[in-house]
Amino acid sequence: MTFDIVTIFPNLIRAALGEGIVKRAIDRGVLDVHVHDLRDFTQDRHRVVDDVPYGGGPGMVLKAEPLFAAVEAITAGRGSASAIVLTSPQGRRFTQHEAERMATLDRVIVLCGRYEGVDDRVRTHLATDELSIGDYVLTGGELPALVIVDAVARLVPGVVGDEESVAHESFARGLLDFPQYTRPAVFRALKVPDVLLSGHHADIRRWRKRQALERTLTQRPDLLEHATLDDEEREILEALMQKSSTNQ
Ligand code: SAH
Repeated sequence: MTFDIVTIFPNLIRAALGEGIVKRAIDRGVLDVHVHDLRDFTQDRHRVVDDVPYGGGPGMVLKAEPLFAAVEAITAGRGSASAIVLTSPQGRRFTQHEAERMATLDRVIVLCGRYEGVDDRVRTHLATDELSIGDYVLTGGELPALVIVDAVARLVPGVVGDEESVAHESFARGLLDFPQYTRPAVFRALKVPDVLLSGHHADIRRWRKRQALERTLTQRPDLLEHATLDDEEREILEALMQKSSTNQ
Protein backbone atom coordinates (compact mmCIF):
# COMPACT_ATOMS: atom_id res chain seq x y z
CA MET A 1 0.00 0.00 0.00
CA THR A 2 1.27 3.46 -0.91
CA PHE A 3 0.52 6.78 0.79
CA ASP A 4 1.45 10.13 -0.77
CA ILE A 5 1.19 12.99 1.70
CA VAL A 6 1.16 16.58 0.48
CA THR A 7 2.12 19.17 3.10
CA ILE A 8 3.94 22.45 3.69
CA PHE A 9 5.77 20.77 6.62
CA PRO A 10 7.30 17.59 5.20
CA ASN A 11 9.75 17.29 8.09
CA LEU A 12 6.89 17.06 10.58
CA ILE A 13 5.59 14.00 8.74
CA ARG A 14 9.04 12.45 8.23
CA ALA A 15 9.90 12.83 11.93
CA ALA A 16 6.78 10.97 13.02
CA LEU A 17 7.29 8.19 10.48
CA GLY A 18 10.90 7.75 11.59
CA GLU A 19 10.10 5.65 14.67
CA GLY A 20 8.26 2.55 15.70
CA ILE A 21 6.11 0.02 13.90
CA VAL A 22 5.32 2.25 10.92
CA LYS A 23 9.02 2.95 10.32
CA ARG A 24 9.76 -0.77 10.43
CA ALA A 25 6.98 -1.47 7.93
CA ILE A 26 8.37 1.19 5.59
CA ASP A 27 11.93 -0.18 5.95
CA ARG A 28 10.70 -3.69 5.15
CA GLY A 29 8.77 -2.46 2.13
CA VAL A 30 5.36 -3.58 3.46
CA LEU A 31 4.23 0.03 3.38
CA ASP A 32 5.32 2.87 1.13
CA VAL A 33 4.96 6.49 2.28
CA HIS A 34 6.06 9.42 0.12
CA VAL A 35 6.08 12.94 1.52
CA HIS A 36 5.74 15.87 -0.88
CA ASP A 37 6.49 19.52 -0.14
CA LEU A 38 3.57 21.58 -1.48
CA ARG A 39 6.01 24.42 -2.28
CA ASP A 40 7.67 22.22 -4.91
CA PHE A 41 4.47 22.53 -6.94
CA THR A 42 4.33 26.34 -7.05
CA GLN A 43 5.32 28.29 -10.18
CA ASP A 44 6.45 31.60 -8.70
CA ARG A 45 9.85 32.62 -7.40
CA HIS A 46 8.65 32.95 -3.81
CA ARG A 47 6.95 29.55 -3.80
CA VAL A 48 3.73 31.00 -2.40
CA VAL A 49 1.10 28.43 -1.31
CA ASP A 50 -1.47 30.71 0.34
CA ASP A 51 -3.43 33.86 -0.38
CA VAL A 52 -6.07 36.11 1.23
CA PRO A 53 -9.69 34.91 1.22
CA TYR A 54 -12.07 36.30 -1.39
CA GLY A 55 -14.78 38.28 0.36
CA GLY A 56 -12.43 39.33 3.14
CA GLY A 57 -11.95 38.04 6.65
CA PRO A 58 -9.01 36.96 8.75
CA GLY A 59 -6.17 34.61 7.87
CA MET A 60 -4.96 32.96 4.70
CA VAL A 61 -6.26 30.17 2.47
CA LEU A 62 -4.24 27.41 0.78
CA LYS A 63 -4.32 27.98 -2.97
CA ALA A 64 -5.88 25.45 -5.32
CA GLU A 65 -3.16 25.46 -8.05
CA PRO A 66 -0.27 23.87 -6.13
CA LEU A 67 -2.55 21.17 -4.64
CA PHE A 68 -3.94 20.26 -8.09
CA ALA A 69 -0.38 20.31 -9.50
CA ALA A 70 0.87 18.05 -6.69
CA VAL A 71 -1.87 15.46 -7.22
CA GLU A 72 -1.36 15.55 -11.00
CA ALA A 73 2.39 15.03 -10.61
CA ILE A 74 1.88 12.13 -8.19
CA THR A 75 -0.68 10.37 -10.38
CA ALA A 76 1.40 10.99 -13.53
CA GLY A 77 4.26 9.19 -11.87
CA ARG A 78 2.42 6.40 -10.12
CA GLY A 79 -0.92 6.00 -11.85
CA SER A 80 -4.31 7.12 -10.59
CA ALA A 81 -4.99 7.10 -6.85
CA SER A 82 -7.66 4.92 -5.19
CA ALA A 83 -8.54 7.84 -2.93
CA ILE A 84 -7.57 11.50 -2.60
CA VAL A 85 -8.27 12.48 0.99
CA LEU A 86 -8.67 16.07 2.08
CA THR A 87 -8.14 16.45 5.82
CA SER A 88 -10.76 18.79 7.25
CA PRO A 89 -12.70 19.24 10.49
CA GLN A 90 -15.81 19.38 8.28
CA GLY A 91 -15.29 15.92 6.81
CA ARG A 92 -16.81 12.54 7.53
CA ARG A 93 -15.51 11.14 10.80
CA PHE A 94 -12.45 8.90 10.49
CA THR A 95 -13.25 5.71 12.43
CA GLN A 96 -11.85 2.17 12.68
CA HIS A 97 -14.44 1.20 10.09
CA GLU A 98 -13.10 3.88 7.72
CA ALA A 99 -9.53 2.68 8.41
CA GLU A 100 -10.54 -0.88 7.49
CA ARG A 101 -12.05 0.33 4.23
CA MET A 102 -8.93 2.32 3.40
CA ALA A 103 -6.61 -0.61 4.18
CA THR A 104 -8.07 -2.40 1.15
CA LEU A 105 -6.91 0.39 -1.21
CA ASP A 106 -3.59 0.45 -3.12
CA ARG A 107 -2.78 4.10 -3.40
CA VAL A 108 -4.00 6.91 -1.18
CA ILE A 109 -3.09 10.59 -1.44
CA VAL A 110 -3.59 12.73 1.67
CA LEU A 111 -3.76 16.53 1.43
CA CYS A 112 -2.87 18.53 4.55
CA GLY A 113 -4.63 21.87 4.93
CA ARG A 114 -3.27 24.82 6.89
CA TYR A 115 -4.27 28.37 7.95
CA GLU A 116 -8.01 29.07 7.57
CA GLY A 117 -8.36 26.03 5.35
CA VAL A 118 -8.16 25.14 1.68
CA ASP A 119 -9.69 26.73 -1.45
CA ASP A 120 -13.02 24.89 -1.70
CA ARG A 121 -12.40 23.85 -5.31
CA VAL A 122 -9.97 21.28 -3.90
CA ARG A 123 -12.82 19.70 -1.95
CA THR A 124 -15.31 19.85 -4.82
CA HIS A 125 -13.08 18.96 -7.79
CA LEU A 126 -9.93 17.19 -6.58
CA ALA A 127 -10.56 15.23 -3.37
CA THR A 128 -12.57 12.01 -3.40
CA ASP A 129 -12.97 11.97 0.39
CA GLU A 130 -13.02 14.62 3.10
CA LEU A 131 -12.07 13.18 6.50
CA SER A 132 -12.05 14.61 10.02
CA ILE A 133 -10.26 12.94 12.93
CA GLY A 134 -12.63 14.45 15.50
CA ASP A 135 -14.64 17.47 16.54
CA TYR A 136 -11.82 19.87 17.31
CA VAL A 137 -9.80 22.24 15.15
CA LEU A 138 -6.07 21.73 14.68
CA THR A 139 -3.54 24.08 13.11
CA GLY A 140 -2.99 21.78 10.14
CA GLY A 141 -3.74 18.49 8.45
CA GLU A 142 -0.38 16.91 9.28
CA LEU A 143 -1.42 15.28 12.55
CA PRO A 144 -4.67 14.02 10.96
CA ALA A 145 -2.65 12.60 8.03
CA LEU A 146 -0.37 10.81 10.49
CA VAL A 147 -3.35 9.49 12.44
CA ILE A 148 -4.86 8.12 9.22
CA VAL A 149 -1.58 6.54 8.03
CA ASP A 150 -0.95 5.01 11.46
CA ALA A 151 -4.43 3.52 11.90
CA VAL A 152 -4.54 2.17 8.34
CA ALA A 153 -0.95 0.89 8.40
CA ARG A 154 -1.54 -1.38 11.36
CA LEU A 155 -4.34 -3.09 9.43
CA VAL A 156 -2.13 -3.82 6.43
CA PRO A 157 -1.06 -7.48 6.64
CA GLY A 158 2.52 -7.80 7.84
CA VAL A 159 2.76 -4.40 9.55
CA VAL A 160 1.82 -5.42 13.09
CA GLY A 161 3.77 -8.56 13.93
CA ASP A 162 0.90 -10.50 15.46
CA GLU A 163 -2.26 -10.50 13.29
CA GLU A 164 -4.18 -11.89 16.25
CA SER A 165 -3.66 -8.70 18.23
CA VAL A 166 -5.31 -6.60 15.51
CA ALA A 167 -8.36 -8.86 15.33
CA HIS A 168 -9.01 -8.57 19.09
CA GLU A 169 -8.59 -4.88 19.55
CA SER A 170 -10.97 -2.17 20.58
CA PHE A 171 -13.55 -1.49 17.82
CA ALA A 172 -12.46 -4.49 15.73
CA ARG A 173 -15.77 -6.22 16.48
CA GLY A 174 -17.54 -3.23 17.97
CA LEU A 175 -16.29 -3.86 21.51
CA LEU A 176 -13.61 -2.24 23.64
CA ASP A 177 -10.55 -4.35 24.48
CA PHE A 178 -10.24 -6.24 27.79
CA PRO A 179 -7.74 -5.02 30.44
CA GLN A 180 -4.12 -6.12 30.09
CA TYR A 181 -1.54 -6.71 32.83
CA THR A 182 2.11 -7.71 32.89
CA ARG A 183 4.65 -8.61 35.58
CA PRO A 184 4.92 -8.13 38.53
CA ALA A 185 1.78 -9.88 39.80
CA VAL A 186 1.66 -7.51 42.79
CA PHE A 187 2.67 -3.86 42.41
CA ARG A 188 2.29 -1.47 45.39
CA ALA A 189 -0.22 -3.93 46.87
CA LEU A 190 -2.22 -3.86 43.61
CA LYS A 191 -2.87 -7.43 42.50
CA VAL A 192 -3.37 -8.74 39.00
CA PRO A 193 -6.76 -10.54 38.86
CA ASP A 194 -6.32 -14.15 40.09
CA VAL A 195 -7.93 -15.68 37.03
CA LEU A 196 -5.09 -14.44 34.80
CA LEU A 197 -2.56 -16.29 36.96
CA SER A 198 -4.65 -19.46 37.13
CA GLY A 199 -3.57 -21.02 33.86
CA HIS A 200 -7.22 -22.00 33.12
CA HIS A 201 -7.51 -20.93 29.52
CA ALA A 202 -11.28 -21.34 29.28
CA ASP A 203 -11.79 -19.24 32.44
CA ILE A 204 -9.40 -16.58 31.15
CA ARG A 205 -11.18 -16.40 27.82
CA ARG A 206 -14.58 -15.99 29.49
CA TRP A 207 -13.24 -13.41 31.97
CA ARG A 208 -11.81 -11.38 29.13
CA LYS A 209 -15.07 -11.48 27.20
CA ARG A 210 -16.95 -10.37 30.29
CA GLN A 211 -14.50 -7.52 30.93
CA ALA A 212 -14.67 -6.33 27.33
CA LEU A 213 -18.46 -6.37 27.46
CA GLU A 214 -18.62 -4.69 30.86
CA ARG A 215 -16.30 -1.89 29.75
CA THR A 216 -18.20 -1.35 26.55
CA LEU A 217 -21.50 -1.30 28.42
CA THR A 218 -20.33 1.29 30.95
CA GLN A 219 -18.00 3.40 28.79
CA ARG A 220 -19.36 3.15 25.24
CA PRO A 221 -22.84 1.58 25.24
CA ASP A 222 -23.41 3.16 21.78
CA LEU A 223 -20.94 0.65 20.31
CA LEU A 224 -23.06 -2.34 21.32
CA GLU A 225 -25.71 -1.47 18.75
CA HIS A 226 -23.40 -2.55 15.91
CA ALA A 227 -21.24 -5.10 17.71
CA THR A 228 -20.95 -8.65 16.40
CA LEU A 229 -21.28 -10.97 19.40
CA ASP A 230 -21.04 -14.75 19.65
CA ASP A 231 -23.53 -16.79 21.71
CA GLU A 232 -21.40 -16.75 24.85
CA GLU A 233 -20.98 -12.97 24.63
CA ARG A 234 -24.69 -12.42 24.13
CA GLU A 235 -25.38 -14.51 27.22
CA ILE A 236 -22.80 -12.60 29.30
CA LEU A 237 -24.17 -9.28 28.07
CA GLU A 238 -27.72 -10.21 29.01
CA ALA A 239 -26.57 -11.14 32.51
CA LEU A 240 -24.66 -7.86 32.84
CA MET A 241 -27.66 -5.85 31.72
CA GLN A 242 -29.94 -7.68 34.09
CA LYS A 243 -27.50 -7.02 36.93
CA SER A 244 -27.30 -3.30 36.15
CA SER A 245 -31.08 -2.96 35.91
CA THR A 246 -31.65 -4.70 39.30
CA ASN A 247 -28.95 -2.44 40.85
CA GLN A 248 -30.80 0.71 39.79
N1 SAH B 1 -11.35 27.23 9.14
C1 SAH B 1 -11.48 25.81 9.10
C2 SAH B 1 -10.41 25.13 9.95
C3 SAH B 1 -9.05 25.20 9.34
S1 SAH B 1 -7.88 24.33 10.31
C4 SAH B 1 -12.84 25.41 9.65
O1 SAH B 1 -13.34 26.10 10.54
O2 SAH B 1 -13.39 24.38 9.22
C5 SAH B 1 -6.56 24.14 9.14
C6 SAH B 1 -6.41 22.78 8.53
O3 SAH B 1 -6.14 21.83 9.55
C7 SAH B 1 -7.61 22.24 7.80
O4 SAH B 1 -7.63 22.69 6.46
C8 SAH B 1 -7.40 20.72 7.88
O5 SAH B 1 -6.53 20.27 6.87
C9 SAH B 1 -6.69 20.56 9.21
N2 SAH B 1 -7.56 20.14 10.31
C10 SAH B 1 -7.88 20.86 11.42
N3 SAH B 1 -8.68 20.16 12.25
C11 SAH B 1 -8.88 18.95 11.68
C12 SAH B 1 -9.62 17.78 12.05
N4 SAH B 1 -10.32 17.72 13.19
N5 SAH B 1 -9.58 16.73 11.23
C13 SAH B 1 -8.89 16.78 10.06
N6 SAH B 1 -8.19 17.85 9.65
C14 SAH B 1 -8.17 18.93 10.44
